[in-house]
Formats: sequence, C-alpha cells, structure tokens
Amino acid sequence: MKKIYLDYAASTPTHKDVLKVMEPYFSTYYGNPGSLHSFGQEALAALDGSREIIAEALGVQFGEIIFTGSATEANNLALRGVIAGLPKDFVSHYKPRIITSSIEHESILETCRVLEDLGVEVVYLPVDTSGVIKLSALRSNLNERTVLVSLMYANNHIGSIQPLQKAAEIIAEFRKPQHSLLHNLHYPFFHTDAVQALQFIDCNTTYLGVDLMSLSSQKIYGPKGAGILYRNKNIPLSPIITGGSQEKGIRAGTENIPAIVGFAKALQLILKNQEREASRIRELRDFLYKGILKIQPKAQLNGPELSGRKPSPELRLPNNLHIYFPGKKSQDLIIAFDLQGLAVSSGSACSVRTATSSYVVGALGFSEERAAQSIRITLGRPTTRQEISAVLAQMRRVVK
Ligand code: PLP
Repeated sequence: MKKIYLDYAASTPTHKDVLKVMEPYFSTYYGNPGSLHSFGQEALAALDGSREIIAEALGVQFGEIIFTGSATEANNLALRGVIAGLPKDFVSHYKPRIITSSIEHESILETCRVLEDLGVEVVYLPVDTSGVIKLSALRSNLNERTVLVSLMYANNHIGSIQPLQKAAEIIAEFRKPQHSLLHNLHYPFFHTDAVQALQFIDCNTTYLGVDLMSLSSQKIYGPKGAGILYRNKNIPLSPIITGGSQEKGIRAGTENIPAIVGFAKALQLILKNQEREASRIRELRDFLYKGILKIQPKAQLNGPELSGRKPSPELRLPNNLHIYFPGKKSQDLIIAFDLQGLAVSSGSACSVRTATSSYVVGALGFSEERAAQSIRITLGRPTTRQEISAVLAQMRRVVK
C-alpha cells in the first residue's frame, strides 16, 4: 500500500536541494560563527549570507532578522519580549493590553495566558463563521494601554486569511504619541504569525505594515529547528533567553547554521514559483473537495468558502480543507484513514495528541460536536492529481 501524506500544514519534507546546501555545514564548515579563527569565519559567512537572502525576500534590513529555534520560540519572543521591554513597573502600574484573536496558534494563546497571570490584559478578538476577525472590533479595543496587536496571517486549522493590511492601517491611524501612555510613536506594535502564509502569500513586511513577524522553516520544505522573528529596528525587545550575545543580544545560543542555511535555500525555492504552485495546488484541492462531496453529500466545509478560481482577495489558503463529517469522530476518522495509508489531522500537530477537537471550529461558533467531528486535509508540493484520485478511492471506504 502506497502511503499518501496530506498533512503539509503540520510539516513538509525537506527539499533535496535544501539538504544539499545544508550538508557541508555539518561535516566541513562546522565552526562556531562566534569563533575568531577561519572555521568560525566560514560559519559566520554562511550565517550572514542566509540572513541577507531572507532579509531581501521579506523586504527588511539585514539586522532585523533574528534566528530562533522554531516559530513557537519566535512567537514567545515577540510577545514576552515586547512586555519585558516595557519600562520598569509599567506592567504593575498600568496593566498593558495585548490584542490577539481567539484562533491563534497555541504558541500565542498559551503565552498570552502566562502573560495574563503576570498582570497583562489580553483581548481575544472573536472571528466570524469564516474565521476572520472584525476590523471594527480591533478598532474599538485599541486603547492607551495597548502595547501590542498580534494577529496570525493564515490560520493553521481552517486556512482563513486575516486582512492584515487593513488591520495595519487601523493600528497606524491610532498610533500617535498622545494615544499611548508610553508617549512613543511606535506603540502599539503589530506582530503577525505568518508561519502558514509564507508558502503561498507575499510576506513583504512593508506591504503588510507589520513590525514583527514569525516564520518557520519546516513549513516551507526546509529543515526543522529553524525559525525567524523579524523585528523592525525601532521596536524595543528584551531577550527571553539569556546568555551570549548572539543575534544582537536578543537570542542567546549558538545559531543552528545548517538549518539556517537550509531555511534560506527553502525560501528562495518557494519564491521562485509561488503563484504557479498556489494555483496548481488550489486546483487539486478544489478537485478533492468536489470528490468528497460526491462521496459524502452531508460533509461540510469549516472556514471560508473555496469560491471558485482565485478570488481577490483570497480568503483561504489554497492547500487547505477542513471538513465536518457529521456523525464521524475526528479521532476515528484519522485512524481509519491511516489504516488506508492516508495521513490527515484534526488541526494543530502541537495539540493533536491531547485533543482531537478543533478549538478553531468552536471559535467559528459551531457546536462542540462539529468541532470533534472534523478533519484537516492539507496538500503540498509533492501532491499530484493521481494521488488525489487515489485518496478519493480510499476515502470512499471510510466516509461513505
Ligand atoms: N504558528 C502557526 C500558525 C503554526 O501552524 C505553527 C506550527 O504548526 C507554529 C506557529 C509553530 O511553528 P514551529 O513548529 O516552528 O514551532
């Protein structure tokens, strides 16, 4: 039985060209980029070269890229780092506010919960049935204590895309020194978790109007163990890991050179044919969805409609389906599909072992039952039409 992977939102296979550029940094150029000798200089050149490639791709400055070990760490650094960078006693005197959404990744939501325990107020913006925030709610929740707005670009369960540019305009309008207790032109800062978006959508930070952005290598056919936090140079940020002075003193610890070199290469490869690949995958995804509805007409889509050819602006990631199969528990479906050789999931890989009900589907206003009877299917670069036909044949046995 040939196994078919349809969980590319959880992780992607490392591209062979990426593996190739990484290999010498394990075996030949293994120096520490902090060392003064030639081995160190070779590693530093690779680090600088990768930083340059990534900065150019995102339209940011060389010094604005901070390498981390994952996007989870980048998200933690963005939120905790902004709070820790506030003036002394600000948290206890003024209860700073963070505005985020109810459908963020766990690395944002759990971090917010910890910050709440430390005296930060967190506003979780609700979303509509398509998984999109209401911009009016963002506007009405901005106040003089708001120090950070953190909104994901694309959701990891249902693929909904947030109107970041419009959110950035609202934040920029509000951003006047007299509107902030800190009398600083730059508050509130705007952070986005663009982990799922990077593969398919332009993540140029000036175009989006964001000050901070988290990214992950493993979602774009790069290796695991590499993340990035873009940080606009005007944003005060305190380290959350202390030690050496790597990454301009913001993230201590020797940089993972092979993974960083791989991340830069993976990003170059993604950008080469981003639009073409997005439309290829969108077509396959739509073909799959139509096929599923033929097999099981009671199935329903969670999140934004697919809305035909490329809608503008696109509301859903082109590779994402999240489907409610009434009467079929997610957990049972995942196991039944796996026995047929099909790898799917219920949502985030970070929580799937403990919960097989999608909190995102719940946040759309649907019942707990629907949240626990839905699965996520995400397509990727290796997915072919032949594979999708095989998937439909296998699915017939499980969901008919
Ligand atoms: N943010 C989103 C939207 C994600 O989908 C993920 C991973 O699933 C993460 C953050 C965490 O990324 P990493 O696995 O690099 O920590």
